[in-house]
Amino acid sequence: MSHPGNTLTAMALPLPTSLSPSKVASFKDCALAFRFSAIDRLPEPPSAPATKGTLVHRALELLFCEAPADRTVATALACLDRARRELARLPDYADLHLTPEQEAEFAADAELLLRNYFQLEDPTRVHPIGLELMLEVDVGNLRLRGIIDRLELDADGELVVTDYKSGSVPRVNYEQGRLGGVHFYAFLCQRLLGKRPARVQLLYLSEPLVIEARPSDQSIRGLEQRTAAIWKAVERACDQEDFRPRVSPLCDWCSFRAYCPAWGGDPEQARELLPAGSA
Ligand code: SF4
Repeated sequence: MSHPGNTLTAMALPLPTSLSPSKVASFKDCALAFRFSAIDRLPEPPSAPATKGTLVHRALELLFCEAPADRTVATALACLDRARRELARLPDYADLHLTPEQEAEFAADAELLLRNYFQLEDPTRVHPIGLELMLEVDVGNLRLRGIIDRLELDADGELVVTDYKSGSVPRVNYEQGRLGGVHFYAFLCQRLLGKRPARVQLLYLSEPLVIEARPSDQSIRGLEQRTAAIWKAVERACDQEDFRPRVSPLCDWCSFRAYCPAWGGDPEQARELLPAGSA
């Protein structure tokens, strides 16, 4: 199967030079969707849930820029207002083309997620040392890049990594996979800051619910080995130009389903997604 924008060279397809941990993990979910996104770099349309997540993340970032005593619900709602004004200027929001009713629902959902946050922890007691922190680490010839929502010190001076989730809580059998993403952040901290976080936590704002884990040398070593193994598989797939679709419930959210052979689509047609002049 040949794809737009690629030529056959010594390595049949160009390898991406840097990836987020979730992108690496997504190769296991579906190699073809990984290819469309990470190698062919086909743009994906914005989605209301993802944009809502961006909005709430920004509101929480602004909240933690305030002095501890000021981190109240009222301040959080003011932060949400500011975040909403910033977002309104961006294509991620404008391209959703929401009707006035959908806009109202979007705003109400975001507010509910933010209010739920206060059921999970007391922000006046959190001591953040980094917000929306971009970290990069080389693993072999792969550069892993991730953004930590919040890095903080607990009462004992230990590092804690926090990741906000605006989507639904994973079913039990997916839980370790989701925590795998957070272990990645623990790994990034250990490599860059020389210290392993004592705790990593996912704050699920929709329930609301906290899922947490305590990384160990073993969990970080295991993660490094799994990453290296997945990356080898990516290199092999590029070399052989073999990225197969893997049908699963995730197909319902896949931006590339119309071009997926497993659903009767033609991957060659996906070039129409590329901006004019780059196909
Ligand atoms: S529709 Fe499903 S099988 Fe096809 S590319 Fe997307 S995730 Fe993979």
